[in-house]
Amino acid sequence: MLNKKQTRWAVEQIIVLYPNATPSLDARTPFQVAVSVLLSAQATDVSVNLATPALFAALPTPADFAAVTPEQVEPYIKSIGLYHNKAKHIVAMSQKLVNEFNGEMPTTMTELTSLPGIGRKSASVILGDAFGIPAFAVDTHITRIAKRLKIAQEKDSVLQIEKNITNALPKEQWIEGHHAMIYFGREVCSARNPQCLTCPLLEICAFGQHYVKQA
Ligand code: SF4
Repeated sequence: MLNKKQTRWAVEQIIVLYPNATPSLDARTPFQVAVSVLLSAQATDVSVNLATPALFAALPTPADFAAVTPEQVEPYIKSIGLYHNKAKHIVAMSQKLVNEFNGEMPTTMTELTSLPGIGRKSASVILGDAFGIPAFAVDTHITRIAKRLKIAQEKDSVLQIEKNITNALPKEQWIEGHHAMIYFGREVCSARNPQCLTCPLLEICAFGQHYVKQA
């Protein structure tokens, strides 16, 4: 396992590789960030970005979504996986925002995770991307990288991975670290074809060293 110092070094190398990594979901308001994040579960960001312009043009605010039925939302998001449940969650989330939060997105983890369809990972993305509040969302890319690099053990939960990284990295690097690791997972430490030979982390990565020997 990497210790805290090594973990911080590894994530900082990834930030150096992707210093300008930004969110890949298009959204203008905190509420639209939340809807986009909710839609992106088990779907590509590209498919979400294709659907949301028409959706947000028709229904821009929580009050607009709270006033319609899920069936009225579905035509806008039919191209995205699990659209049936997602439409239900977006309408329920909007109703709760209108009824309990004055139509505004809350800004704490506890309040965000009380909303229908919003789990810890989505709440972290909303905190970071919509409000710039330090949070570290762990997705499948970050899980894979953390386990290959031994930032976490194979059996560790996403919450444990989050703890290992946030305990090692200063708060002000959490948001950029999250985005940089996603880019790194897409382009370098990919699931099927990791670019270990040219990876700057090869020297501390037993998985990568083994992979290179076998190739
Ligand atoms: Fe991923 Fe390979 Fe780099 Fe290790 S050496 S972090 S497995 S790309």
